[in-house]
Order: sequence, then structure tokens, then C-alpha cells
Amino acid sequence: MSFHLKGERFTQKIETARHRAAALQQRVSESPRQQPELLAVSLEELKTALEELHVAEEELRQQNETLLATRGALEAERQRYQDLFELAPDGYLVTDTAGTIREANRAATELLGVSHTYLVGKPLIIFVPEEARRAFRSQLNQLPKIGLLQEWEVRLKSRQGNLFDAALTVANVQDKQGKASSLRWMLRDITARKQGEEKIRFYHLQNLQLQEEVRLKSQFLALMSHELRTPMNAILGFSQLLMRQAQHQLGQNQLNMLERIFNSGKHLLKLIEDILDFSKLEAGRLDLNLEEFNLAELVEQTVEELQSLAQQKHLSVHIHACLDNPCVVNDSNRLRQVLVNLLSNAIKFTDSGSITVDACEPAPDQIAIAISDTGIGIDPSEIQQIFQEFRQLSQSLTRTYGGTGLGLAITDRLVRMMHGKIQVESQPGEGSTFRLELPREVTSSANNSTIIST
Ligand code: ADP
Repeated sequence: MSFHLKGERFTQKIETARHRAAALQQRVSESPRQQPELLAVSLEELKTALEELHVAEEELRQQNETLLATRGALEAERQRYQDLFELAPDGYLVTDTAGTIREANRAATELLGVSHTYLVGKPLIIFVPEEARRAFRSQLNQLPKIGLLQEWEVRLKSRQGNLFDAALTVANVQDKQGKASSLRWMLRDITARKQGEEKIRFYHLQNLQLQEEVRLKSQFLALMSHELRTPMNAILGFSQLLMRQAQHQLGQNQLNMLERIFNSGKHLLKLIEDILDFSKLEAGRLDLNLEEFNLAELVEQTVEELQSLAQQKHLSVHIHACLDNPCVVNDSNRLRQVLVNLLSNAIKFTDSGSITVDACEPAPDQIAIAISDTGIGIDPSEIQQIFQEFRQLSQSLTRTYGGTGLGLAITDRLVRMMHGKIQVESQPGEGSTFRLELPREVTSSANNSTIIST
């Protein structure tokens, strides 16, 4: 039952008791002769009235207790909300519709750099820098019409003059007639977020510039390498022609000089070609020309090409091919280039012993080629770095063996383009094994379609 109803009942009871007492007095005054009986009846009625009054008093007491408990709970709840408001990490303000501050929590006073007493009664706009006030005022005028405005980004200025970026969320409070009566503001300092966004924008821009620089560099390298290759081919061609045609007219010394021109030219051309390939790979401009060919034949031809190099160092080269089906789909020139790189490294870094080429098919749709040597081997701490471009393991080794440090980087990228992988196992002083795993049918990465020649 509500307090209101209980109160009414209590008033009724008092009223009944009063009526009874009045009726009693009336009867006594009207019939003085019946006084003894009347007195007995009246006393009885008075007793009943008193009992009812007593009950009503008890109810009222209970009502009071309940009322006090409810008021206590309400006060505790109010205090809890006050604490939440006060200790919230974001600034909270209540203003009238014109933007004059009525309430502020601690975070708001800290953000704006003023005390609570100073803040209350001040227009919020005084914390907006002069130049942004016009825009702020026009938005403020719109606020009573908008139910909720979220993440309104504004620059604010604390009383000490510190500028900071804030995100404001403003909610409209309406009176019973639905008219805006006040505004509730949440202020969040987003300086750190803004700085983060600024940094991301900066790095993004820097990244784009770097990408452009890399593209230009690769383009320049490709162009330069092409320009260098053309005269190199002329130097090589004519020195070879001269060696052949003027063999009998020239002395041994001159022939030796010509041979050195030819060999150095060949070496230079290889370097130029490596740089050209690498820049093409970097720029993503190298495409595979996929075709079907016989892998066993390709391995044999490649070994044959490098046989004379191995013989010069008295190294034997063995081929173990156990391929039930030697047909593969790949770019034969690029796969030859991979094999040449690995084989010439094996010959270069082996002073005695042998080189073995194993070709097999671990699965029907896979082929594997391993090139093993009995050479100087690679230190375990350096093995991860050998596929990085321009990476040569030791300066003294480089001087002894030469090279650019591009061969394995190109090899690795080509193998990855072929959707394969390359791994190396090595023991210093005992030799190395470079193992290639490739799909039997390489698909073009661009359109993922298999190209098989007829
Ligand atoms: P480079 O033109 O110097 O040969 P590579 O990229 O082909 O460049 O090889 C990088 C380095 O990896 C070489 O300088 C060498 O130190 C090491 N390396 C490659 N192959 C072998 C191998 N078969 N045996 C020992 N070291 C090797």
C-alpha cells in the first residue's frame, strides 16, 4: 500500500474516534438520567477507539521507518552517482541551453585548469580559442534542437592557455513540455589520439614516398643495366671475334690480353644481368614464361654447361635423377638460372671433392632438386642471412671467391615466384646442400592459370 493511502486510513481512524467521542458527549448532554449505562457504553466505545488509534499509531511508526530506510537508500544511490560523476575519467559538465556552466566534475575542472567555484556560472565558450568561437557558437545554437551530438571535435584552451584537442558529446535534457532545459556535456582530451593519427598520416606519407623512391630506383637500375648490357655485348662479341680471326697475326701476350678482356667482360655482364634481374624482381616486373619441358634434360644440360668450370678445379659432378615422370611446367630459363646460381656457388666454394645433383619426386605433384658440395660450408650463425641481397659472409672469403651477393637473393625470389621453397643445410668445413622444392606444375601468380605448351 502506498504511503498516501496509509496516511489517509490513519486520518480516517482519528476522525472515527473523534466522532465517537463527540457522539458520546451529545448523548450524555441529551439524556442525563441514563448516565450510568451510557457511561459503560461510552467507555466501551472509547476503548475501541483507543485501540484503533493505537493500531493506526503503530502503522504510522512502521511507515516512518520504511520511509526513513527508503530515504537512506535513495541518499546512498545519489551519493554513488555523485561519486561516479565526480571521479569519472572524462570531464562532465551541465550547462543551460545558452552554454553557461551549472555543474562540473573533477576531470572537467582539471581539463580546463580551473577550480569548481570558478567554473560554475561561466560560459563554456570562454575555453574556446578566439578564432574558433564563431563556429562553436553556431553549433551551440543548434544543440537544443539536436537530441545527441557525438564526437564533436573542438580545440579547447585551458585557463593557463594550453591548447588541447577535445571530443565533446552533448545530450539534450528536456523538461515535461519537451523543451530543452539544459545540456549535458562529456569532454574527452583526445590530444594523444590526434597525435597518433598525425603520426600514422606522416608515416603513411613517408611510406608512399619511399615506395615511389624504390620504384624510381628500380626503374633507374633497370634502365641503366639495359644501357650497360648493350655495349658489354659489343665488347664481348668483338673481343671473341678478334680472338678467332686474328689468332695467327697476334702474339701470345696480346692473345692473353684479349682473353682477359673477354673474361672480365663476361664477369661484368653477369653482374649487370644480376642487377637487372634483381631490380626487376624488386619492382615486381619479372614474369615467368611457363612451358612444359623435361626436367632431367634441363639438369643434364645445366651441369654440362658448368662442367668445364668444375674441371678447372678438378671437381667431379654427379647427377642422380630418379624421376618417373620428368615432365614439369615452369619457366625453363629461370629454373636454369636458379640451378646455375646454385651449381656455380657449389663449384666456387669447393676446393676439393665433388658436387652432386639429386632430382626426385617426393610426391606426384612435387619435384625436389638438391645440390650438395664438399666445400667450405657455412657457419650456422650466418646461414639465415645468405638469402638476403648483397649478403656475403666474410670479407676475406669475398676477396678470395668474388661475387656480388645477389645470386642467392635472386634464386630465393625466383623460387618463391615458382611457389616453391629453398632450404640449406651446411657444416663448416664439410660442405653444403641447397634443397629446392617446387610444384610439378607452376601456375602463374597473376592469374593462377596453368600454362602448358603443346
Ligand atoms: P655471391 O655472388 O657472393 O656468391 P650469393 O648470393 O650467391 O652471392 O651467395 C651469398 C653468400 O653465401 C656467398 O658469398 C657465400 O658466403 C655463401 N654461399 C653461397 N653458396 C655457398 C656454398 N655452396 N658453400 C659455401 N658458402 C656459400
